[in-house]
Amino acid sequence: MNAKLDTGVTTRPVTRETFDEVLVPTYAPAAMVPVRASGLDLWDQNGKHYLDFTSGIAVTSLGHCNPVIVDALTRQANTVWHLGNGYTNEPVLRLGLALTEATFADRAFFCNSGAEANEGALKLARKYAHAKFGPHKSRIVSCLSSFHGRTLFTVSVGGQSKYTEGFEPLPPDIHHIPYNDIEAARAAIGDDVCAVIVEPIQGEGGVIPGDPGYLQALREFCDNTGALLIFDEVQSGVGRTGSLYHYMDKGVTPDILTSAKALGNGYPIGAMITTDEIAHAFAPGSHGTTYGGNPLAATVALNVLAMINQPAFLARVKEASAKLFAKLTKLSADYPQVFGQARGAGLLVGLPVTGEFKGRAKDITKAAEALGLMLLIAGPDVMRFAPALVVSDAQIDEADRILRAAVESELNTAPSK
Ligand SMILES: *Cc1c(COP(=O)(O)O)cnc(C)c1O
Repeated sequence: MNAKLDTGVTTRPVTRETFDEVLVPTYAPAAMVPVRASGLDLWDQNGKHYLDFTSGIAVTSLGHCNPVIVDALTRQANTVWHLGNGYTNEPVLRLGLALTEATFADRAFFCNSGAEANEGALKLARKYAHAKFGPHKSRIVSCLSSFHGRTLFTVSVGGQSKYTEGFEPLPPDIHHIPYNDIEAARAAIGDDVCAVIVEPIQGEGGVIPGDPGYLQALREFCDNTGALLIFDEVQSGVGRTGSLYHYMDKGVTPDILTSAKALGNGYPIGAMITTDEIAHAFAPGSHGTTYGGNPLAATVALNVLAMINQPAFLARVKEASAKLFAKLTKLSADYPQVFGQARGAGLLVGLPVTGEFKGRAKDITKAAEALGLMLLIAGPDVMRFAPALVVSDAQIDEADRILRAAVESELNTAPSK
C-alpha cells in the first residue's frame, strides 16, 4: 500500500542522525526518537518505554492519542478538511460559541500557534489604540524573561534578549520591565502605551507565578491610561492550572487573551479572544491566516474544551497538583543540596536546582530520561513538570520514584570539587 510512497519518496531508514543531516538546526532534540504514544506512555524506536511528564510542552493535556479526540478528528477528516476564509464552517462557529460562553470574551479569532495568537493580539491592540486615541499611543509594555513566541514581533516583545540577538533591526516602541515589580509597571504604563502583555505565570522564563496583586495592579494602570491588558495564556490556559484559564484563579480579567498549546492537544491551533468593542478595531481585510479556524483544528479544539471545561475534570487537576506538590516538597526536603522550593499552579510546576546543581537542570532531566521519565526544563536552573492533566496518582508516584533514582545517579557522578 505504501509501495509508491516508499519508492517514490525515500527508502532510507530515519534515525536521530537524520535530524543533524537534513533539518535546520534550530533544536537539539533528545537522542531517542519517540514513535508511538498513548496517554502518558510513550515508546522510542527501540521499543523502550517512557512516562511522559512533558505533554509536548503542556500541549497533550488529554494524553497522547486520546480516543475521544482521535474519533472526532477522524470523523471530521472524512467530512471536510479545509475551506479557506471565503467560507465559514460549522466546527469553527461551534468553537467560537463555546469559547465565548466559557470566558469573559465576546469574540474569537483563530490561527495556528501561540506566536500567531500573540501577533494578532498585539496588532489588534495597536489598531484599536490608533483608531481611538491616535498613532502616538503605540508603545507596548512587556516583562523581562517573558516568552511570547518566535515571530520577529513576538520575539521582540518577549523579554529574553538571547532570542533577538542577530535579528536586528527589531520592531521599535517595545518597553521591558521586571516581572512582579509594581512600581516599575506604574512608571512604564503611561499615556503612550497601547498594550501591556503578560503571562499570569511565566512558563519558559522559569515557571514564575505572578504575585497576588501584581496582575490587579497592571489592570488598574491599564484602566487609568486606556492601554489594553493582554494575558498570554498559551501555556497556562485550557485547564493547566485547574481552571479553564488562569485569569479565573487570579480574579483579574484581561481585555485580550491568547491561547494555543493545549487547545489543540497536539493539533495546531491558536486563539485570540476579546470583547466586542475591541474586536471591532478589526474589519474584513485587517488580519487573517489561511488555516485559521480550519474545520479539523476547530473540531479538535471543540472536543478538547468539552472534555476539560468540566468541574469534575478541573477539580481532579487540582487534586493531582496537590499530590505532585507534596511529592516535590518531600523531594526538596530530602535533597536540599539539589533542589529549592517547588512553585507554579495546577500541573505547571517548576522546581529550581540549587547549589552545585545550579545550571544543571538539564543533566537531571537527561538522567531521568535514561531511566524512563521525560521531564522539561525552564531555563538552565529550573526543572519543569507539565504532565497530561489526566495523570493518575500511580503515575505521579512512579515519576517521583524515577526522579529520585535520577538524582541519586547524578549525585554519584557529580564532579567533585
Ligand atoms: C509556547 C508559548 C508561546 C508560543 O507558542 P507557539 O505555539 O510556539 O508559537 C507563546 N507564549 C507562551 C506563554 C508560550 O508558552
